[in-house]
Amino acid sequence: TMSCLTAIDASDALNAFVHKTPELALDQARAADARIASGNAPDLCGIPLGIKDVFCTKGVPSQAASNILKGFVPEYESTVTAKLFGAGAVMLGKLNMDEFAMGSATESSCYGPAVNPWKVDDVLRTPGGSSGGSAAAVAADLCLGATGTDTGGSIRQPAAFTGTVGIKPTYGRVSRWGIVAYASSLDQAGPMGKSVRDLAIMLGAMAGHDAKDSTSADLAVPDFEAALTGDIRGKKIGIPAEYRIEGIPAEIDALWAQGREMLRDAGAEIVDISLPHAKYALPAYYVIAPAEASSNLARYDGVRYGHRAALAAGDGITDMYEKTRAEGFGPETQRRIMVGTYVLSAGFYDAYYNRARKVRALIKRDFEQAFAAGIDAILAPITPTSAFGLGEMDKASPVEVYLNDVFTVTANLAGLPGVAVPMGLDSKGLPMGLQLLGRPWDEAGLLNHAYVLE
Ligand code: GLN
Repeated sequence: TMSCLTAIDASDALNAFVHKTPELALDQARAADARIASGNAPDLCGIPLGIKDVFCTKGVPSQAASNILKGFVPEYESTVTAKLFGAGAVMLGKLNMDEFAMGSATESSCYGPAVNPWKVDDVLRTPGGSSGGSAAAVAADLCLGATGTDTGGSIRQPAAFTGTVGIKPTYGRVSRWGIVAYASSLDQAGPMGKSVRDLAIMLGAMAGHDAKDSTSADLAVPDFEAALTGDIRGKKIGIPAEYRIEGIPAEIDALWAQGREMLRDAGAEIVDISLPHAKYALPAYYVIAPAEASSNLARYDGVRYGHRAALAAGDGITDMYEKTRAEGFGPETQRRIMVGTYVLSAGFYDAYYNRARKVRALIKRDFEQAFAAGIDAILAPITPTSAFGLGEMDKASPVEVYLNDVFTVTANLAGLPGVAVPMGLDSKGLPMGLQLLGRPWDEAGLLNHAYVLE
C-alpha cells in the first residue's frame, strides 16, 4: 500500500486517480495486516486497489466524473466495494473515467483526460474509456488491480489499449447496487488487472446475489481461480465471420490469427460461425444506451444530488432544472440525453427504441444458436486500432467515435461475459488485445481460455 501511494503521487501526470484516499488506505492496510497475522485471511486481504469513480464509496466523493455530482459524498457503500473491502482489499482512491461512463477515451471526464502510460513517441495517448483511469493505473503499477464497468466495452477496450486484462461478467453476476447508472440493462461491473489469475480472485470477491439489485442472479459463485487449469482440449472456439469488417487493419487480423493458433495448439477446435445480426449491434446499442441514459439521468435535477446552479431573482423551478443541467452535464452527456429523449418520444418510439429492442433479441438469439451448436467460446478483436492520440477523436464526428465500439457492444446487448487479454505489441510498439466471449454464467470457462492466451 505504501509503495502504491508513493507511485500514485509520482504519477499525477497520468491523471488516473481523481481522488486519493491515503488515510483510509493505511487504516484498511493495518486492519488487513492484523487479519493476515491471525491466519486464514482471504487472498485479496491487504491488496491495494483503485476504484472507478462510478462506484459509490461511503464518505468518499463519488462523482462519476461529472460536474453535476460535484460535492456528492455517498452515505452508503456500493455492494461491489463493500464485498471487496469485506475480503480485505484496500482502496487507494477513485479512478478517472468518462463522464457517466459515456465515451471511449476518458476525455469526457470533468477532471480532464487520463493518459496512457504506454509511450512510444512524443504523442500522449488515451488509455481508452470509459474505465481509462482504471486501465492506466493498473498498467502503470499504481495499484495491483482496479474495478471497472462495461456498458458497451468500457472494461475490454481500455484493457486492450493498455496491455492489461479485464472481464465483463454475465449481466446479473455482479450487483449494480450503488453504481451510478448509465444504461441499466447493459451495465455490468468487473475487475481489471495484470493477470487472468488476479481477475479470477477479484471476480470471486465481487460477484454474487444481492437482494438490493433485482437483476442480480441468485446463483452460486464458482471458484474461478480453481478453474484455471489451462486444459481446453476438445473445446470449440467460434470465429464469427461478421467480425471480419472491411477496413480492419492487417495487424488486427494477424493478431486474431495468432490467437486462433494459440488456442488450436492447446487442443481446442477452431470453428467458423455466423452471427448474422451482429452488424446491427452498433446502431441498436446507440439507441438503447442513450434511451436508458436519458431516463437514468433525469434524477440529476439540482435538488437531490450534487451541483445546483446559481439562480437569478424571479427564477422558478424550471429555470433551476434547466440551468443546473446545462451547467452540470458535459457535451457528450447532453448529446446522449437528447438522443435518448428523442428515440423514446411518442412519435418515434416504435421506429427507434422498439426496433432496437427487436434487433437486440435477434443478436442474443444468434449467440444462443452458436452455443447450442456446441461452441464454448468466441474469439474476436476488441478494437479496430491500438490506442489513439489524446484529442485525436475531437476531430471526428460523434458517429465516427462510436464506430470504435463495433466489436464490444454485442456482448452487452446479449448479456454475455467477455474477457480481454493482451496479445503483444503492434508495429508502433503499442499493446493490442483480443476478447473471448462465453456462455452465460461461464466466467470460469472463459477465464480458463483467457489463461491459455495469456
Ligand atoms: N464507448 C461506449 C459508450 O460510450 C461504451 C461505454 C461503456 O461501456 N461504459 O457508450
